[in-house]
Amino acid sequence: MRPSVYLDCNATMPVRPQVAVAVAEALAHPGNPSSVHRFGRLARRRTEDARERVAALVGAHPANVVFTSGGTEANNLAVRGCGRRRVLVSAVEHDSILGAHAAPEIIPVDADGVVDLEALAALLGDEGDDTLVSVMLANNETGVIQPVAAVAELTRSRGALLHCDAVQAAGKISVDLAALGADMLSLSAHKLGGAQGAGALVLADEALELVPLLRGGGQEKYRRAGTENVPGIVGFGVAAAIAADELGRTAGLSVWRDRLERRAREIAPASTIFGAARARLPNTSCLTLPGVASDVQVMSLDLAGVAVSAGSACSSGKVAPSHVLRAMGATAEQAGSAIRVSLGWGSEEGDVDRFLDAWAALARRTGRAGSAAASAA
Ligand code: PLP
Repeated sequence: MRPSVYLDCNATMPVRPQVAVAVAEALAHPGNPSSVHRFGRLARRRTEDARERVAALVGAHPANVVFTSGGTEANNLAVRGCGRRRVLVSAVEHDSILGAHAAPEIIPVDADGVVDLEALAALLGDEGDDTLVSVMLANNETGVIQPVAAVAELTRSRGALLHCDAVQAAGKISVDLAALGADMLSLSAHKLGGAQGAGALVLADEALELVPLLRGGGQEKYRRAGTENVPGIVGFGVAAAIAADELGRTAGLSVWRDRLERRAREIAPASTIFGAARARLPNTSCLTLPGVASDVQVMSLDLAGVAVSAGSACSSGKVAPSHVLRAMGATAEQAGSAIRVSLGWGSEEGDVDRFLDAWAALARRTGRAGSAAASAA
């Protein structure tokens, strides 16, 4: 049997081998970073080295990195800890933003999923000093990149705070906190080759006051109580450093992604490729096979040894229509037949061919293939 092909890197990027080594090494050493003896001091040193590497990935100061258990916690800390009463979020945010506030106000997006700046300006009004705006850098389902610097100009002019969920962008494209102009940025280790269970909220200014979600300890400068996940954080640092070094190679994934999309259009000419005309992450494609439900595609591809996802990875295990695609104006039929293919550092060109072969075979079996694919062997 041929080895499986993993094309679901936006759900979790495979762990880099160097990360696995660093995590194992950290696990082999006892030591709590809060302890004053040599073991504790070594654990502290490892944690602070990782903090520097994570900060460097996004051009931030290490003192402004607050380690968390992942992107979800970082997003919750930003939304719930910033102390602002009004929260405006784009319609295509991840559930961990949409669900972090009881009554977020929704900023609409256009047909490509790009945030509507005029609508945001109208929602903000003249006074924004009791408002947090949260707009992601890159979307997890479509890869579409938001004009965060333009959003920052607006929020700054109205005195609002800006949070940016950069969980999918970091490690795939260059991210610079100062250039973005955001006040807070969320990161997640397992989206960029680290282990699951570590993330960070990065602040632009150390003076920004955050009400901790977790209390009862002075860790992370009283911004996040609880013993640090040292092995996860060490791995996060290694993954961040490698991802930063390999941004050029990651950018090159767009060549395979574009080939995948060209061929997909030949296989199923009625296919929709979401956000294709806009700036996107180089590794992500969100496309439909009209008339074939997303979960049928995912299962059929899985049987052929190819792992992709149906829209966003769903934590409940059941596939719900994507709120992202619906916010972009996709019909229920389109949203219900969309899958996401996401490449990563370990992807090979042959992986794209395996996907295309299996997808074309499914299109033929279901009578959805165009004439070119239908006539193929
Ligand atoms: N934000 C975005 C855009 C994501 O794609 C995800 C995960 O899918 C998260 C936040 C949550 O990150 P984590 O899995 O580390 O909690």
